[in-house]
Amino acid sequence: MIQAQREFFLSGATRDLEFRLKAIDKLIKVLRFAEKDVYEALRRDLRKPTFEAYVSELGLILEDLKLIRGQLRVWSQPEEPALPLAFWPSSAQITREPYGTVLIISPWNYPLDLALSPLAGAIAAGNTAVIKPSEMAPHTSALIKKLISENFSPEFLSVVEGGVEATQELLAQPFDYIFFTGSTRVGKVVMEAAAKNLTPLTLELGGKSPCLVEASAKLDKAAKRIVWGKFFNAGQTCIAPDYVLVEAKLLGPLVEKMKGQIRKFFGENPQKSPDYARIVNEAHFRRLSAYLKEGKILSGGRSDAADLYIEPTLLEAPAPSSAVMEEEIFGPILPILPFEDLDQALDQVRRRPRPLALYLFTEKAPVEAKVLGSVSFGGGCVNDAIAHFAATDLPFGGIGASGFGAYHGRKSFEAFSHPRSVLKRSTWVDVPVRYPPYSSAKLKLVKKLIG
Ligand code: NAD
Repeated sequence: MIQAQREFFLSGATRDLEFRLKAIDKLIKVLRFAEKDVYEALRRDLRKPTFEAYVSELGLILEDLKLIRGQLRVWSQPEEPALPLAFWPSSAQITREPYGTVLIISPWNYPLDLALSPLAGAIAAGNTAVIKPSEMAPHTSALIKKLISENFSPEFLSVVEGGVEATQELLAQPFDYIFFTGSTRVGKVVMEAAAKNLTPLTLELGGKSPCLVEASAKLDKAAKRIVWGKFFNAGQTCIAPDYVLVEAKLLGPLVEKMKGQIRKFFGENPQKSPDYARIVNEAHFRRLSAYLKEGKILSGGRSDAADLYIEPTLLEAPAPSSAVMEEEIFGPILPILPFEDLDQALDQVRRRPRPLALYLFTEKAPVEAKVLGSVSFGGGCVNDAIAHFAATDLPFGGIGASGFGAYHGRKSFEAFSHPRSVLKRSTWVDVPVRYPPYSSAKLKLVKKLIG
């Protein structure tokens, strides 16, 4: 299959702009047509509410595809940068070269978006692609396989279903680019495999994304937006607020407002709400249930193993050495830690691995400047949570332990292409200064030209 994809890439077919535009049009059509199947697959895998399935998966991919479709002609034009005088007479061109045959590996939490949104970039840039969706979202994985195999030729796009073994077998192949979304732990496995073939890659990983609520924050808005961002997809979001750091005097009022918001969103018994997702499988249910014992439960805490249900839960200040404060939570449990001094709170954040996201709730510009100017993180929001992911024009990616590289919109096109610089020299004149034999006069002239 990979050999066939290589041959197809070498034929030059995927480099053609019209081919790429047509493939994007087709993907848009296929996804629109499959809308009901998408909702059904996501419901079966995660009991994902239809609204969430649209805004964070199907709708998001369609928006990204439409943006790429609209701009691809422009992005595909070579750039012609100006050159220093020393290069006269000549011109230069930077063209975006597709890598070739690429591998896309995706996780289970947004199983459609995280497989197909990178694919949009791969197609736009002119690659062939092998997609390996997550085996933990089997219905969505099967749907992706069906949609791609029924609508695209395998030498252009192929889907390989499977788990660790299948992924490792794929990773042993010399792909031209790897785009991996998943955990930091597996990211290291992927990077090691990529190193063996010197394959360039993007790593979109996870981590513990902090949420800071500073003294001037508008508490009603903060509570509403944190609760929304945290319990969307039952907290199984790479950029979900992992823990809240709040000014000590605001702890009580913030918790009360958050409790109120949870009730407003999901009712007295969130298990009955159609708007609240489930934990993906038993192993994750067990992992999350253990966290419930690691701090004082301020709200929620109920669970039902048979239904893979964990109530939206607020935990008060678990010990820094507890698993819930050491590991990425990735579920509907939110530790809330008070702080007396913002600088100390920022120091705590800085001493941890660099997170994928950070959220700051404040009304003060100097506080915003201080936080943004002193903490490094992949991306984030001021006065909101998780919403930056949906702004398709914003590059999305991590830093340090949360990964490297970025995508969405133009950045997806760039992620899957190499900026190839070519200098075009004219032959009608040949300034002799650079050629031996060198002389002090030549050196003087060069120094003058360079400045
Ligand atoms: P994961 O790392 O366990 O799995 C991701 C993919 O890797 C899957 O397709 C899986 O089949 C494969 N895989 C798993 N173990 C492997 C191994 N040993 N060798 C080779 N391949 C292997 O991640 P997950 O549990 O599916 O997803 C959750 C993680 O992904 C969280 O850490 C979350 O933060 C992160 N995530 C990041 C982003 C992002 O955009 N940065 C988005 C979603 C999820």
